[in-house]
Amino acid sequence: MPMGKKEVLVTGGAGFIGSHLVDLLLKKGCEVTVYDNLSSGRREFLSHVEDRITFLERDLVGDGDLVGALEGVDHVYHVAANPDVRLGADDTWVSVEQNILATYNLLEAMRKVRPDDPPSLSFTSTSTVYGNATVLPTPEDYGPLMPISQYGASKLAAEALISAFSDNFSIRSSVFRFANVVGSRSTHGILFDFYHKLQKDPSRLEILGDGLQRKSYIHVSDCVEAVYHATEVQKTPFEYYNVGTADYIEIRDIPDIVVSAMGLGDVEYVYTGGHRGAGWKGDVKYMSLAVDKILSTGWKYRLNSRQSLERAASELVSELRDSSI
Ligand code: NAD
Repeated sequence: MPMGKKEVLVTGGAGFIGSHLVDLLLKKGCEVTVYDNLSSGRREFLSHVEDRITFLERDLVGDGDLVGALEGVDHVYHVAANPDVRLGADDTWVSVEQNILATYNLLEAMRKVRPDDPPSLSFTSTSTVYGNATVLPTPEDYGPLMPISQYGASKLAAEALISAFSDNFSIRSSVFRFANVVGSRSTHGILFDFYHKLQKDPSRLEILGDGLQRKSYIHVSDCVEAVYHATEVQKTPFEYYNVGTADYIEIRDIPDIVVSAMGLGDVEYVYTGGHRGAGWKGDVKYMSLAVDKILSTGWKYRLNSRQSLERAASELVSELRDSSI
């Protein structure tokens, strides 16, 4: 461990999860540089800490001088991605570029910046790498991994690159496979979607799928604590962790949470049926994660799936009411 403040670089630090991670890292006393092209992130998510961070508005794909950005950096949190699962059914390139190529570029720069002592890495992956798993809750060693979305496939490819770079170039790494993450500053996902639909028409809500999908949710505050804590206590060269809550919720129970947070009355719920009952092509209908491994590091979540959604719905409603997000 170097003397003085730990220097960290957060790719995607202006996004939903990244900006919460930046808040936590500052609280923990780290020197934080954010590397973000603002494709979906927002400067205002960091405005309250603007004078305490270095902000590099740069792209991981292209000529962003990544090696220069990594000078002096002890640890990289690689959070940047295109997280839109639905997009893959129409555009098969975006996840290859933004999730695989971007990760490759970062790893190349990490091995070049200090070949004898490269920075270490935490990577934000996803439960979608498991595809339609036949074991629920799904443990980290479940296989074979057969993602059903371009997004899940690209994240799995990125994990594989990290594993190889970690072994070949001694980059100590951890991979965090998130359940669905909810909370303030989110610019996508089920709560965001329901809120905007209900703003347009408070009498009717369209719900993708048959409503019987079962998924696990985690509040962003618990999620970033898990990533930070497991990274800090890691002793081995490479680790995988599921990050979620030990329970799940049916999708048909979520509309009431949003309707109540918005203070609305009678709303008609209309189910689209979706793709074989899932929300869309590439959507995993049943997802819950075995979280014993991350719990064994000493981290604990404060909110279960329902509590996470309730907290996030009320945070989002007050945030979105006064903004243009
Ligand atoms: P987000 O879109 O809010 O954040 C992504 C950030 O990355 C944005 O700030 C964006 O501007 C930046 N970015 C994208 N491409 C970039 C590039 N080429 N160069 C530099 N910056 C770039 O998404 P999020 O929900 O905060 O997701 C963060 C991470 O967590 C992603 O890796 C995502 O795959 C993963 N994840 C999210 C969830 C979830 O429920 N939100 C679930 C599982 C995994």
